Amino acid sequence: MKYVDEYRDAALVHTLADAVARAATRPWTIMEICGGQTHAIVKFGLDDLLPPAITLVHGPGCPVCVTSADLIDAAVELALRPGVILCSFGDMLRVPGNGIDLLTAKARGGDVRIVYSPLDAVGLARENPARPVVFFAVGFETTAPANAMAVLRAERERLDNFSILTSHVLVPPAMRAILGSPDNRVQGFLAAGHVCTIMGTAEYGPIARDHRAPIIITGFEPVDILEGILLCVRQLEAGRAEVANAYSRAVRSDGNVHARQLVERVFEVSDRDWRGLGVIPRSGLAVRPEYAAYDAARRFPRVAAPAAAPTECISGEIMRGIRKPHQCPAFGTRCTPEHPLGAPMVSSEGACAAYHRYRARTAA
Ligand code: SF4
Repeated sequence: MKYVDEYRDAALVHTLADAVARAATRPWTIMEICGGQTHAIVKFGLDDLLPPAITLVHGPGCPVCVTSADLIDAAVELALRPGVILCSFGDMLRVPGNGIDLLTAKARGGDVRIVYSPLDAVGLARENPARPVVFFAVGFETTAPANAMAVLRAERERLDNFSILTSHVLVPPAMRAILGSPDNRVQGFLAAGHVCTIMGTAEYGPIARDHRAPIIITGFEPVDILEGILLCVRQLEAGRAEVANAYSRAVRSDGNVHARQLVERVFEVSDRDWRGLGVIPRSGLAVRPEYAAYDAARRFPRVAAPAAAPTECISGEIMRGIRKPHQCPAFGTRCTPEHPLGAPMVSSEGACAAYHRYRARTAA
């Protein structure tokens, strides 16, 4: 398949891994931001091809994983309101909140529906004019344009029964939070290529400069990822900290201007509570006051918020690169995809799910 096979070429993969081994004279810790990259690394065993000097750690780029338990509780509360149709992508349903998850809410009579696009939820609002339809809008910069478009479509069609519950997070503030943390061990980043297709590359230069960390914009196939690692290691070895684009077939420096304009029209930057990482200033997107009628958080004030539940999940440490999934005491025993204690075990982009799916429990 074009644009896939050539980026999974085994000979090229080994050539790149050998080049990394030649380039690395000291230990380096590199974080891939995106959960899609994490899954590719674990699935294809790319970290096993690298020299022991290179440690890959797995970042917070799984939107399901970083959605706060409190927002899951808010979605559950909405799902259990009489008449409400709560729409969500499938992998949100089993993410634990402080109380029950959305699947349990569905079992208790809540009208929870899996959709494949926010426009599907707009369609449900059109078909059910007497019922409030709420779309649980979770994601990074990549999904924000489609959610903005859904709000604008609902406005154009005068669908006053449609709204979104937003859990939008932004990558650059999370990178700064990780690099600025006292126990940080990340020395270089593989940035998420698809985020940059929307947002461009301008936000990363100041981060690389301020924290002395190279940032390589990287794709998702084995060749992409190893090329990103090689460029990162070469910069680290040379004492450089710059932004480089290793995903130029998809990323332009100014991103997708039209998509960015859609996002800016509907959303504004806000503080956001990241699961496992806490509140990061100006790291999320909230619905602008002009579109308050489509903001579920404003339309449906919370009735009751369950108290924060104690958890043995260490996803915050994993997403900051302090530990790896198999180092969680619950991994594969008390926490499994069938009975997840944390979101990274149940999300299709979660690091714990990747380790559980592709590796033995004690894999390094
Ligand atoms: S294995 Fe389960 S409990 Fe441990 S960090 Fe991963 S999701 Fe959380």
